Amino acid sequence: MLRLSGVGVSDGRAAGPVVRVAEPLPEPPASPAVTDPSAEAARISPAAETVANGLFARAAGVEGDAKAVLETTAAMAMDPSLSSRAEQLVNQRGLPAPRAVLEAANEFAESLRATGGYLAERVRDVHDVRDRIIAELLGVRPPGVPTLLEPSVLLARDLAPADTADLDPDLVLALVTEEGGPTSHTAILARSLGIPAVVAVRGLLAETSAVAAEVDGDGGTVSLSEEPVEVRSPERIDTTGWTGDGGTSDGERVKILANVGAAADTTAAVSAGAEGVGLFRTEFCYLAAQDEPDVATQRAAYAEVLEPFAGKPVVVRTLDAGADKPLGFLDTGAEPNPALGVRGLRVAFDRPDVLDRQLEAIAAAAEDSGAEVSVMAPMVATPEEAAWFTERARTAGITRAGVMVEIPAAALIASELLEAVDFVSVGTNDLAQYVFAADRQLGALAGLNDPWQPALLRLIAMIGRAGAETGKPVGVCGEAAADPLLGRVLVGLGVRSLSMVATAVPAVGSALAGVSLRACERAARDALAAPDVATAKAAARAAFE
Ligand code: PEP
Ligand code: MG
Repeated sequence: MLRLSGVGVSDGRAAGPVVRVAEPLPEPPASPAVTDPSAEAARISPAAETVANGLFARAAGVEGDAKAVLETTAAMAMDPSLSSRAEQLVNQRGLPAPRAVLEAANEFAESLRATGGYLAERVRDVHDVRDRIIAELLGVRPPGVPTLLEPSVLLARDLAPADTADLDPDLVLALVTEEGGPTSHTAILARSLGIPAVVAVRGLLAETSAVAAEVDGDGGTVSLSEEPVEVRSPERIDTTGWTGDGGTSDGERVKILANVGAAADTTAAVSAGAEGVGLFRTEFCYLAAQDEPDVATQRAAYAEVLEPFAGKPVVVRTLDAGADKPLGFLDTGAEPNPALGVRGLRVAFDRPDVLDRQLEAIAAAAEDSGAEVSVMAPMVATPEEAAWFTERARTAGITRAGVMVEIPAAALIASELLEAVDFVSVGTNDLAQYVFAADRQLGALAGLNDPWQPALLRLIAMIGRAGAETGKPVGVCGEAAADPLLGRVLVGLGVRSLSMVATAVPAVGSALAGVSLRACERAARDALAAPDVATAKAAARAAFE
């Protein structure tokens, strides 16, 4: 057995045969030049269509998030600009069709990468579509997850949403990836399936002779074996008892909410039994917009997301532009350190008119939809900033205003911050990156961005105490809230709403319903006292035994 370490991002233990997710195809050659360019070019659109049809057919067999992911990828394969650019390359340079698709898709990916941030993350989807079309043109097996025939441990470089959208959860024992971090798609997926996952496992792909693996999601290790091992299925949290009313077994109320970015996410949130929305990332509606949408356009877009939650709480976050999510119409210019630059609410200090128009649209959409809307500002550093935002929200007619705690300074001054607002919500993704000075998107620093880091937990404890002192609610809407065990610890630290990717709602809600507030507080106390991630997790687990 060869034992490798990584970052455990979803708890539990499992063992079984390994299945490797196929690596991308080798680069198709640019020569020899084709003899009949127009016949060669004519192969491209049908190949793209076959790929799209295959993805649409898979989409037809699933629901919710999986359907949306597959349909989005299929639509990308059908994008006529990709096919026509590839055809042009065949006609102009005599390139073989697979090579032309490679070059056209790479140009497209490069322009997304140059845009940066979340659009840059879509580069992976473009590469996925590119490789599927090339495989179709070459008549070979496409990269990605092969059809699973028995319960297996999946080993991959990283997993794209389209790779995993229609995975049969009963056939996946665990996920292990060489890349990725605590907020990666792999982590989110594993938690939603309730299976163990370890990411950022260096050296994983170099081990080609293993046939089986034992995965420890708690300890963040994977043991690879050249002999078969006894199959061990992970113990899944029983979610059948999830009623949609969040709280502990002894009746302490904790709202279990969903994070959404667009209308498509609301279906998944409603069907998962979320009590409302704890984070509506409005910037996701406008990642590709070059001009600011007018108030009427924004109103319609927000109302579409809010309508399914009539009568329920929804926290609408104002535009979190900048750094990893640049918006074309709020360009803050080149910055040496964008994550430390003019982003989030800071953009609004220069452009209060944009914030005011957005608040006007949110207030109108709230009325249109009947949802109980609050607004929340991202990237707030000081109580003055929080007060400035609250004042503008109230002027726009929105009575409930809060801020995110994502900057360590805001956590350190939480009591005064809470005086200026109605609530706070902790963005653990950014708070971790700023506490540890570790880019949240870098797999190599994934261990520092682990939300179980006691230093992060101690900051959250300060915020929880400030909430209790001021009598104002503290929530968590970063990825930490999607971990069922950590969710219990957060409640023990004083958090009274947990907002997460919709698929995690039943597991987190059920896990909390099975324990008392007293037990959560004990687990929190023990995790806080731990010197490191592994000890913190073990201490929390022991507190519930
Ligand atoms: C966070 O930082 O934890 C958060 C929820 O905001 P985002 O992930 O959108 O930056
Ligand atoms: Mg954030």
